[in-house]
Amino acid sequence: MPELPEVETIRGQLAPRVEGRVLEALRVGDARWCLPLGVAEVEAAVSGRRVEELGRRGKYLVWHLEGDVHLVMHLRMTGTLLLDPPDGTPYARVRFELDDGSRLLFCDPRRFGTGELARSSEELSAFFAARLGVEPLGADFTAERVRELARGRRAPVKAFLLDQSKIAGVGNIYADEALFRARIHPLRETGTLRRAQLGALRDSVVAALSAGLAAGGATIDDFRHADGVMGAFQDEFLVHRRAGEPCTVCGTTVRKFVAAGRGTYACERCQPRPRKKS
Ligand SMILES: [Zn+2]
Repeated sequence: MPELPEVETIRGQLAPRVEGRVLEALRVGDARWCLPLGVAEVEAAVSGRRVEELGRRGKYLVWHLEGDVHLVMHLRMTGTLLLDPPDGTPYARVRFELDDGSRLLFCDPRRFGTGELARSSEELSAFFAARLGVEPLGADFTAERVRELARGRRAPVKAFLLDQSKIAGVGNIYADEALFRARIHPLRETGTLRRAQLGALRDSVVAALSAGLAAGGATIDDFRHADGVMGAFQDEFLVHRRAGEPCTVCGTTVRKFVAAGRGTYACERCQPRPRKKS
């Protein structure tokens, strides 16, 4: 699933191509994309409006349109936005037609991606306030903030990192990478982490996301850049998807196990497994 670095990569590539353009028409070919709203309602609400800004919040891509209308997209498992792709590109669900003649296709083989509408800035703020916590690459993501969020939490730290209502934008890849960098086992109870460990975790989340962004995101499954090129971060994973390989720090074999319901990778020497509670 595209996480913050993948969505930000797409945003950064598309923004100069769409900002200032008029979205002449939105054509929704799959009604499931914008449920519970109807296709005609969504198409009418956004078509003909100038794109003021292409933004991102967490893993959401946000089209800020003139007249204080906002189209909020989530790419979910397999969604990709392709600019001027070849005819016959498969799995197209939504088509954006811009006034310079360019076409943007939202392709999504598994059809979990969504499009939602906010018809005012207040509505948009409320939408995100109900779903998303702090932006990990923003100024508010401090060690103190992480300590506040972690205090008293019984959940394993991997689940804590995946909880979008705490920290927005971290998914399975970057959670594993951040925990490895911070030398914290994914099954550690969040509230038992010491102050220095939470400081290291904060820094490691930023470092992992920044490394992903610098590499243009990771390509696993179907993620593609807007020009169809794949990201390269999967070649730089320190621990994620490296089960059976030696740890890059100590040489111990990387293990795979389940944490927070997700396939999780760790070096259990660098990241000591918590002792079972008696
Ligand atoms: Zn190790």
